[in-house]
Amino acid sequence: MSEAQSAGVHKNFIGGKWVESASGEKYRTVNPARPKQVVGEFQASVVQDADSAIAEAAASAPAWGKMPAPQRGSILFKAIDVFERRAGELARAITIEEGKPIADATGEVKRAMNILEYAAGEGRRLFGYTTPSELPDTAAYTFKRPLGVVSIITPWNFPVAIPVWKMAPALICGNAIVFKPASATPFAATIIAEIFEEAGIPAGVFNLVTGPGGSIGNKLVEDPRIGGVSFTGSTEIGTRIYARGAEALKKVQAELGGKNAAIVMNDADLDKAVPGIVQGAFGSTGQRCTATSRAIVQKGVYNEFMDRLIAQTKALKVGDGMDPENDVAPLSSKSQFNTVREYIGYGTEEGAKLVVGGHALEGAEYEGGYYVEPTIFTDVPENSRIAQEEIFGPVLSVFQAEDVQDAVRISNSVKFGLSSSIYTRDLVLAHEYINTVETGMVHVNAPTLGGEVHLPFGGLKASGVGQREQGTEAFDFFTETITAYIDYSASARERSRFI
Ligand code: NDP
Repeated sequence: MSEAQSAGVHKNFIGGKWVESASGEKYRTVNPARPKQVVGEFQASVVQDADSAIAEAAASAPAWGKMPAPQRGSILFKAIDVFERRAGELARAITIEEGKPIADATGEVKRAMNILEYAAGEGRRLFGYTTPSELPDTAAYTFKRPLGVVSIITPWNFPVAIPVWKMAPALICGNAIVFKPASATPFAATIIAEIFEEAGIPAGVFNLVTGPGGSIGNKLVEDPRIGGVSFTGSTEIGTRIYARGAEALKKVQAELGGKNAAIVMNDADLDKAVPGIVQGAFGSTGQRCTATSRAIVQKGVYNEFMDRLIAQTKALKVGDGMDPENDVAPLSSKSQFNTVREYIGYGTEEGAKLVVGGHALEGAEYEGGYYVEPTIFTDVPENSRIAQEEIFGPVLSVFQAEDVQDAVRISNSVKFGLSSSIYTRDLVLAHEYINTVETGMVHVNAPTLGGEVHLPFGGLKASGVGQREQGTEAFDFFTETITAYIDYSASARERSRFI
């Protein structure tokens, strides 16, 4: 066990050293499957800690930025080896701290490694472009320059994949980072820092500061030494961060909430649609930004769809994510548990019909864990809270639609626009949907979930603002594009007057 993990007390990682917070304060996280089990104690950092981390990052950024990108890439490749070796440990850390089933946690670690592979290889492909100049004997080209220091502020629901999909492109582009994970998931974050330390990241290039966003968040956005902010989290906090960043004319990307819908047309293959929607709605306990929160079903197939949906949902096993037999794990925290139960209450109060689940699972066998049954509502009023607001839990609302236009109208009727899907065998319908649905990611005959690392990830409307994450867009976000003109003519020449 490393120094950071000894005695269950975990430190910040600043300037290549494991250090305590200047506050002298610590806080604990607990296992959501049995909250009496403490996962560890972490630093409750204050502005002074964030300031030290920014200072160390600013001091190391010039040398890191000057290091040839393929050399930075080789450090990222080493990090993949360490990830591989510690993958099981990291997956268990995710499950005991965030709660998700161990198979999902293992998949998340694998996803983080894919992102590292993609970014590390990009060290040899950080292309600019050349183009003919208007002038003779003149070279004109663009290249990418790092932003310097970037803040990485992340949520608890993907405590490994989301941080890595920000830090891998940030690092390969030559930036030093200050990483502030969600207060609920600092354990996985600590292991990520250890992995980069072992991979040989130079001191000060990777800094971890744990603790409340309310205390240190403003500093990580407003400090003049910060060149960019990559944030994933709630629409409420993201909006504030984007506004603050805009005032300081900083680059900010904010990936925010979702209220994703899957449409099922009369001609859909229900063998694909029903399991896809069950997985989308209840996998990871519905705590994915791309979770399927709404199913919109064309009337001709509604009854058969509902029979199958109810049967497959009732067959799901709920329990501790460490038991591979369980499909649905606890919610991540007491506050999530309370929020989801409140939304189930709003559902019935506002006239929706509860057809499956709806209860918390309590009693000795559940050890006080934050379990809520997979829950389905039908006859949901379109303007009700469960139809419009992000719940972030295992709750699915089902709607009926006349045709594809009606289905897309319902899909688009929310303020969010992250992901969506349609199940149909009709290419004409599928394209009408793709061209009109208001989401940043669209799926045909597949769940609303996920994305591939080499394609852009992000949403429209209240689901996100700023440049997309992942794909080649990620390398654009973490750099400035510089345009160079080089006059290599042998003697002085008359220049045209231009702007
Ligand atoms: P929050 O917005 O509450 O928190 C996100 C991060 O911001 C945390 O690290 C938090 O710290 C920090 N933070 C809180 N206040 C501030 C502040 N004033 N300044 C700077 N940082 C601050 O979101 P959750 O952690 O609850 O995550 C769930 C949300 O994330 C959901 O809405 C979900 O949809 C969204 N999400 C979006 C994704 C996407 O790609 N679109 C992907 C995954 C999730 P602390 O924990 O200490 O409060």
